[in-house]
Amino acid sequence: MKCLLVMVVSHKLPRILLMILAWSGLTTTTFYLWRNGVSVQCELGKNEYANIDRLTTSAVRNITFGLDDIFISVKTSGKFHASRLQVILKTWWNNCRNQTTFFSDEDDSNLMNTSGARILNTNCGNSHFRTHLCCKMGFEYDYFMNTGKKWWCHFDDDNYVNAKRLVKVLSGYDSNKDHYIGRPSLSYPISTTYIGRMVSFWFATGGAGICISKSLAVKMSKWSRNGRFRHSCNSIKLPDDCTLGFIINNRLGVNLTVREDFNSHLQSLKRIRIDEIASQVTLSHSADQGYLNVLNMQNVAAFSISQDPTRFLSLHCHLHPEIHWCPSKRT
Ligand code: UDP
Ligand code: MN
Repeated sequence: MKCLLVMVVSHKLPRILLMILAWSGLTTTTFYLWRNGVSVQCELGKNEYANIDRLTTSAVRNITFGLDDIFISVKTSGKFHASRLQVILKTWWNNCRNQTTFFSDEDDSNLMNTSGARILNTNCGNSHFRTHLCCKMGFEYDYFMNTGKKWWCHFDDDNYVNAKRLVKVLSGYDSNKDHYIGRPSLSYPISTTYIGRMVSFWFATGGAGICISKSLAVKMSKWSRNGRFRHSCNSIKLPDDCTLGFIINNRLGVNLTVREDFNSHLQSLKRIRIDEIASQVTLSHSADQGYLNVLNMQNVAAFSISQDPTRFLSLHCHLHPEIHWCPSKRT
C-alpha cells in the first residue's frame, strides 16, 4: 500500500509522524518538503521509517540543504581588487554570486557596478596588521549572525571555492551541532599566553577556508559579537584565524574537523593530481606573493602561465568546460 502525503516542513519531519508511519505498515510514503517556495518530492521506504534519528537528521537535511544555507565571506583589501578579485569574479564567484560577500577596506563602486558583486567596506584599515585583519573577521562574523544562514564559510581572496563540493561536504554535517571545519597549517597545537597563563589549541588556517556551523557561531558570541572579536585577538596577540581556534577549541572545547580537501598555498599545490581536483572544496595560489605555488595544470591547461598566472582560469575550465570563454568552446 502506498501513501501520498503533502507536507509543509522546513527542516524536519516530525518524530511523531514518522512513528505513525513506522507502525502503519505502509510500504512507501511520498511526501513533499516545501523549501524556498519550491516543493521537493521525497520518497521514504518502509525500512526507513524505523530509523527515525537518521531520517530527522541526515536524510531530510540532505534533501533540503543547499547553497542558500551557506554564507560565504571573502576577506580582501583594496590593493587586491584588481589583481585577485578580478579572477575570482571571472571564475568561481559565478557559481555562488548570491551567497558571497567580499569584506574589504575600500569602496569600489566601479568594480561593484561592472560585476554586480557585493563588496563591503569594513573601514578596518588596509594593512596586514593583526588588528586590521581581526577587525575584518569580526565584521564577517557579525554580518553572518544577521543572515539567518546555517553555515558561515570564510575564505581568503587567493582561494578558489568549488561551491558544488562545498554544498556536498557541508550537507554531511548538522548545522544544529557544533562544527569547526578546515585544515591546520601546523602539525601541533599553537601555544600563547592568555591573561598570564599558557594556553594551546588547534586552529584552521584562514588560507585554506574555514566553515563554522550556526550552532557553534552562536556559542562564540561572548568572544566575538559586536566587535568583541578584536578584543579576543588582542587578548592572545595572534591573528584572526588563530583567534577563531582559541575561541572554538580552547574556550568552547570544540574540536577542529580536519578536511584534506581544503587547500591553502602553505602546502604544495602542484602535488594535487588532476584527477583529484574536482573533489577539492578549496584550492589556492600564491602567484603574487614572494614564492610561486600554483596548481600544476600542465596537461589540461586551457591557458598558458602568462595568460593565467594563478591557474584559476584553467582550473575553472577544467571543472566547467562548457563555459563560453573556455578553449573547448572557443572557435
Ligand atoms: N589581507 C588584507 N589586508 C592586507 C593584506 C592581506 O585584508 O593588508 C587579506 C588578503 O586579502 C587575504 C588574506 O588577508 O584574503 C591573506 O593575505 P595574503 O594572501 O596576502 O597573505 P598570506 O597570509 O596568505 O601570506
Ligand atoms: Mn595568501
